[in-house]
Amino acid sequence: MSEISRSLPGLFPDELEQLVVSWGEPAYRGRQIFRWIQRDGVLDPSGMTDLPSQLRDRLESRRSEEVRRLRSIDGLTSKLLLQLHDGQQIEVVEMKTAPADEGGRKTICVSTQAGCAMGCVFCVTGQFGFARNLEAGEIVEQVLRFNMPREPVSNVVFMGMGEPLANYDETLRAIRLLTHPDGLRLGARRITLSTSGLVPQMRRLADEGLQIGLAVSLHAARDELRSSLMPVNRRWPIAEVIAAADHYVARTGRRVSFEYTLMAGVNDSDEQAGDLAGLLHGRLCHVNLIPLNPSEDASLHASNTQRALAFEARLRHAGIAATIRVNRGRDILAACGQLRLSEKKRREHVLPLPLGEGC
Ligand code: SAH
Ligand code: SF4
Repeated sequence: MSEISRSLPGLFPDELEQLVVSWGEPAYRGRQIFRWIQRDGVLDPSGMTDLPSQLRDRLESRRSEEVRRLRSIDGLTSKLLLQLHDGQQIEVVEMKTAPADEGGRKTICVSTQAGCAMGCVFCVTGQFGFARNLEAGEIVEQVLRFNMPREPVSNVVFMGMGEPLANYDETLRAIRLLTHPDGLRLGARRITLSTSGLVPQMRRLADEGLQIGLAVSLHAARDELRSSLMPVNRRWPIAEVIAAADHYVARTGRRVSFEYTLMAGVNDSDEQAGDLAGLLHGRLCHVNLIPLNPSEDASLHASNTQRALAFEARLRHAGIAATIRVNRGRDILAACGQLRLSEKKRREHVLPLPLGEGC
C-alpha cells in the first residue's frame, strides 16, 4: 500500500513529514500531527489547533464512525461498533478491572479484519466470512477512541474480529505505532496477540525482536477434534502449532498462553483435560479456559461451572498453570462478532436492542 493513501492514524512521523513537505510545509508539522493523533487521540484535523488552518483543511480526515456504544451494567465493559469508510462494521471492546482512580487496568480488545476467513465453527465472526483486512490506522484508531487523559489505555489485546496473523504487515505496523515513543508509548509487554495457529507467521513474529505476548487458540489436544472445530488445523496440525509456540518462547523468553474454549460434551471431559496436560507438559505456558459464548451453532453449549472447575483442577494437578476466564459484558454482547450480528438483525427488525443500550 502506498503510504500516501493511508489514513493519518496509520502513518509514522517520518511519513507524515514527507507528506507535509510535499505540500510545501515545514517537516516539523509532520511530527506535530503525529503527536496530535497518537498521543492526544485527536482524529479530526480541525481539532489540531496549533496547525495553520490551510494545513488543517488539507489533511484528509478519513476515519471510522461510531454506530453504537454500549456499556455493561457494572460500567466496567464497553463495546463500540464502528463503521469504516467503506461501510464495513467492526467491534472494539473496552474492559476495565476497576475505575482508574482505584488503580484499575484498562484493556482494549481490537479487531484486525472485517470478518474472518478461518471459519471456526464456534465463532460468530468466523461464520460471517471474510470481508477485508483492516489498515494499521483503522486498528490504531480503535485504541485511540478509548484512550482518555485521566483513564489511559494500559493494555491492548488483538483478540477481536479477525485473525491478526493473516493481516501480518498491518498488525505489526499498528503495534509499532502503538509503542512509538512519541505516541501512546504502550509497552510491548502490555500487548497480547491471539492467533488460531498460523505457523509460518508465528515463527516470523518470534523473530521480530518484539516483547509482545502470544496467545494460541488451541481448543482441543487431538487433531481430529481440533480440525472439526478449526479448519486451520488441517493446514497446520497441533504438533506444528506447539513447535511454533516453543520457538516463540525460545526467542522471546515469554510464556505463551493457550486458549481453550470449553464446550459441553465436545472438549471438556477429564480425559481431554488429561490429553491437554500431556501435550503441554514441561512447557512455559498458561492455559486460559474460556466459557463458550453463544455462537451461531445451536448444538454448542458452554460447559457448566462444575465441569469447568474439574477441567481446571485436572490441569493444575498435572502442573499446568490454568485459569478460567470470567466472561464479562454478556449484557452488551461483548463476545467477538455478537454486536455486529445483533445490529444486522436489528436492522432487519428481528431483535430488540441489547441491554445496556444508550450509554
Ligand atoms: N482469530 C484469533 C483472535 C480473535 S478470536 C484467534 O482465533 O485466536 C479471540 C479468542 O476468542 C480465540 O481464542 C477464539 O477461539 C475465542 N472465541 C471465538 N468465539 C468464541 C466463542 N463463541 N466463545 C468463546 N470464545 C470464543
Ligand atoms: Fe477467526 Fe479467531 Fe473467530 Fe477462528 S476464532 S473464526 S480465527 S476470529
